Amino acid sequence: MSTHTNDAPAVRTRFAPSPTGFLHLGGARTALFSWAFARHFGGTFVLRIEDTDVERSTPEAVQAILDGMAWLGFAPDEGPFYQMQRMDRYREVIAQMLASGQAYHCYSSPEEIDAMRERARAAGLKPRYDGTWRPEPGKELPQPPEGRRPVVRFRNPADGVVSWDDLVKGTISFANTELDDLIIARPDGTPTYNFCVVVDDWDMRITHVIRGDDHVNNTPRQINILRALGAEPPRYGHVPMILGPDGEKLSKRHGAVSVMQYDDQGYLPEAMVNYLARLGWSHGDDELFSREQLIGWFDGSHLAKSAAQWDPKKLNWVNAHYLRQLTPEQLGPRVASRIQRRGGQLEQGPALPDVLALLAPRAETLEQLADDAMLFYAPFDPAAVDPALREQHLGDGVRVVLRDFARQADELPDWTAEHLGALMKSLLKQHQIKMPQLGIPLRVAVTGRAQTPAIDAVLALLGKHTVLSRLHAI
Ligand code: GLU
Repeated sequence: MSTHTNDAPAVRTRFAPSPTGFLHLGGARTALFSWAFARHFGGTFVLRIEDTDVERSTPEAVQAILDGMAWLGFAPDEGPFYQMQRMDRYREVIAQMLASGQAYHCYSSPEEIDAMRERARAAGLKPRYDGTWRPEPGKELPQPPEGRRPVVRFRNPADGVVSWDDLVKGTISFANTELDDLIIARPDGTPTYNFCVVVDDWDMRITHVIRGDDHVNNTPRQINILRALGAEPPRYGHVPMILGPDGEKLSKRHGAVSVMQYDDQGYLPEAMVNYLARLGWSHGDDELFSREQLIGWFDGSHLAKSAAQWDPKKLNWVNAHYLRQLTPEQLGPRVASRIQRRGGQLEQGPALPDVLALLAPRAETLEQLADDAMLFYAPFDPAAVDPALREQHLGDGVRVVLRDFARQADELPDWTAEHLGALMKSLLKQHQIKMPQLGIPLRVAVTGRAQTPAIDAVLALLGKHTVLSRLHAI
């Protein structure tokens, strides 16, 4: 047993999505950073579902988050914890804070609050709660109005500064005079968003909070509440948002924003993780790295202060790299269902790994591979070949050449790409034509497409019987 002691607490990070939609790219990137950071330090990665917005939270959205996390391979070490299952705990802490004077009942009505804000605005001040119900030494509080249920407010420090050393942005400071006495419980007793986050980060002993910089304004409030509770605030890192290729905030307009849509579109999770990691983080000039390298490097440094930009072309490039890492046998199961979904008949065509060996070097996505593979598995009806293609490429003169090709191919000693290629070359000589004058008509006659990968390889894969019967059918 190790006797090594270390004063710094073991790293504990969390991903805390609100289940109101799917797992979007920004959320996935936040999850990735929190996960990789915990893994780097041999720490613990917690998943917490912030489902207190009962109007907007749905079980489907929870499932979408779990699916997305599983697909990306971000397995939590603890959780998922659900905030809705922790209500008693939040109420307990609120009761303690009320008892200790760190929080107080406020009976101001919404109309009164509006009027306060109006008065502050008119006086050129920041609109804020005026502290009517805030207890102060020697201050006499008003009588609670009959029958009105109060909210609970946190007694924020009246002066001083709250600041933290952000992992991403450096030192950030807020004057306490900027911060209202935050409502931590509604009139019906339900705790509010910022409060639940605080209690959870405290109870779950979170040491590092990595989240989107839309939360920067919440952080000073959360730090103040944590300090009031006697808790050591975690380190915070606020990552800038992801922008679309046009510089606007990434949204549906830019294409898919749900992580699982990228699965549908034929991206590999390995590629997604690699690509997402580079959105707001870097390790020198490294663009392609394994999950293990990412974990080895991700120590919270080199997080970018400026917003990252979504680049679909680069994602395709990264995905193509990971596609090429897979053997045809490994690719097979990932592509087979996509071919079947297109109506392809795998048992009618050549062996899938052979087809993928030909196609994979040029493909960027699994979907593109499935599209390309349909060349070999789509039911082929010579009568259904596009009449325009037929007219352009299968005129009478060409048919003579194709018939010649079919006759000589029938006599080849072996049905291989090499023999077929050699035969094509000799036909070019015999008929005094150039390669496209043979290659394209062959493609159209045998596959119904004017463009395919190398035609000798395609013919070899399709097999003698298929090729010759299709050539005879033109
Ligand atoms: N639930 C919050 C969100 O989805 C995140 C809260 C946090 O990370 O502190 O934006």
